[in-house]
Amino acid sequence: MNFPNEVSLAEAGANLDLTLFADEEGPGIARAVGSYRFPVDADAQYRGWYRITSGADAGRALWAPKWSKYQGPRPSGPHGGSDLFGESGTNVLALTGGTIEWRPVHPDWGNHIYLYHRIAGVRHIAVHAHLDPSGAFPAPKSVAGGDVIGKVGCTGNAGNNGACWRDATCNGKTSIEDHLHLELLVLDEAGTVTGKKDAVATYGWSVAYENDASQTICGSTAQQLP
Ligand SMILES: [Zn+2]
Repeated sequence: MNFPNEVSLAEAGANLDLTLFADEEGPGIARAVGSYRFPVDADAQYRGWYRITSGADAGRALWAPKWSKYQGPRPSGPHGGSDLFGESGTNVLALTGGTIEWRPVHPDWGNHIYLYHRIAGVRHIAVHAHLDPSGAFPAPKSVAGGDVIGKVGCTGNAGNNGACWRDATCNGKTSIEDHLHLELLVLDEAGTVTGKKDAVATYGWSVAYENDASQTICGSTAQQLP
């Protein structure tokens, strides 16, 4: 099997013409290509929680699930993937059969796994980011849908020096940053990234807080960081 190791993080980021793929992302088409396992072994929900890092509210919790969605409107720009909630240590499951490759620490993605697979005959990579280092494996290998491929972690820019921030309560809910950042890349047959898609829409998942547009600073005082 040919592994497109030449796929670079730069290619995976900006400068992609997303409009080329707009007509492939309708829910009807996504649901027509098959059944895909939700990759976090927990209830399907967006991450939702964020931590305010500067200004008068630094340290307080922010509930903004719209930021967790693909292209979510963050202050830093549209989000490049889907942030799926999962506490550190939760199993990450293969969303379909394919070949996985362990990719070591990157400043933003941390430890991450590429899952190479095809959707309606077209090559894709599902990028699973911020994984726990305990799931490392030495060489690419084949997996079936539902196989455990790793564990949710806090590596890369998911947390603070590898530890995700959390607070005991925030409006009665535990605020937790831990999550799986999932990104869906389209490849041509030569292994070059040609586009990017909304993974949640493409795989046809129903994820909690999909339509929650709220953005709420939570807690009356700055929260203690670990
Ligand atoms: Zn993310």
